[in-house]
Amino acid sequence: MNTLKIFVTVLACAFASCANKSTPDKGNEPVVLSYAPAPEFDADSAYLYVSEQVDFGPRVPNSTAHKACGDYLIEGLKRFGAQLHVQEMTLTAYNGDRLKARNIIGSYNTSNPKRILLFAHWDSRPYADNDPDPATQRTPIDGADDGASGVGVLLEIARQIGAKAPLAGVDIIFFDAEDYGIPSFETRSHATSSWCLGSQFWARNPHTPNYKAEYGILLDMVGAKGATFYKEGTSVVRASDIVEKVWGKARDSGFGKYFLNGRIGEITDDHQYVIKGRNIPCIDIINYDTENIHGFADYWHTHNDTMDNISRETLKAVGQTVMEVIYKQ
Ligand SMILES: [Zn+2]
Repeated sequence: MNTLKIFVTVLACAFASCANKSTPDKGNEPVVLSYAPAPEFDADSAYLYVSEQVDFGPRVPNSTAHKACGDYLIEGLKRFGAQLHVQEMTLTAYNGDRLKARNIIGSYNTSNPKRILLFAHWDSRPYADNDPDPATQRTPIDGADDGASGVGVLLEIARQIGAKAPLAGVDIIFFDAEDYGIPSFETRSHATSSWCLGSQFWARNPHTPNYKAEYGILLDMVGAKGATFYKEGTSVVRASDIVEKVWGKARDSGFGKYFLNGRIGEITDDHQYVIKGRNIPCIDIINYDTENIHGFADYWHTHNDTMDNISRETLKAVGQTVMEVIYKQ
C-alpha cells in the first residue's frame, strides 16, 4: 500500500536525521507521527454486505424484505461495536402512502466532539420507472448499486472502525426512504421533496440534540464496474475543501481513474438535506455517466440494477479512499 510505504519512509528518514545530529541523547526519542496508516479496506467483505442486502429482495418500505434488512443492518452495526440509535418514523410518500421507515445510526467515539458523518440510503426504489419494458416499470428493483453499494461500503468501514478506531468520532447513518420519489410515469409535477424522506426527517430531528459534524460524506451508487465520480455541484459550492481532500486522497491512493476532475451539476440527494437542515458541509460521491441523458448508468432505476454490475475494485476504490480521509484527520 502506498501509505504504508510513505509511513515507513518517513520513519526511516526521521531516524536517519536523528542519527546525524550532534546530540545523540535525543536520538532515542520516539518519533511521534500525527497519524498511522489507514487499515486495509476489505473489498470481499464489502461485496458480501452488498449481496446480503440484495438477497433480502427489494428493500421497499412496508415490505417484509425491508423490515428484515433493517434488522440485519442494526445487528451488523452492533456487532461492529457501534452505539446504536434507531429512528422509527412514519413518513408520507408523494401519493399519500404512509411508510413505516427507520433511520439506522451507528456512532463511534461519542465523547469526541470532532465528528465525521458518513451516510448512504438503505431503501431501494419501489419502481423500475426507467426500465425499457413498460410492463415492469411499476415493480421494485434490486438496487444493488442504488442503495446497497453505499451501505455495503459503510458496513465494512464500520467493521474496520470496530477493530481499530480512528482518532475522530464517526457517525454512520443509513437513511431510509430516499428512493420513494415520484415516478416518471405519474403525471403530477416532479417535486424534488418527494425524495430523501428519511434524511429530511433526520435533518429536522437529529439523533442527538444540536448534532454537529465537521463534514459529511454521502456514498450513493459506488459499486459499479468502471464507475466515474465527478465533483457534484452542491458538494463543490458547500464543501469544496472536502471535495478536494477526498479527490486528492483518491488520486494519491491510486484511484484517480474513478475520481475524475470534471464538475457536474447539482444532484437531488440526501446530502442536500443534511447541509440545509444541519449546516454541515457535505459531499456526494455518486456514479455519473456524462454520456447518458439522465446522467446515471444505463441500469439506473431499471431491473438491471443487479449484483452483475457490482465490482470489488470499485468498492475498494471508494472504501479505501474514505478510510484514508477519516483515519488521517
Ligand atoms: Zn435511486
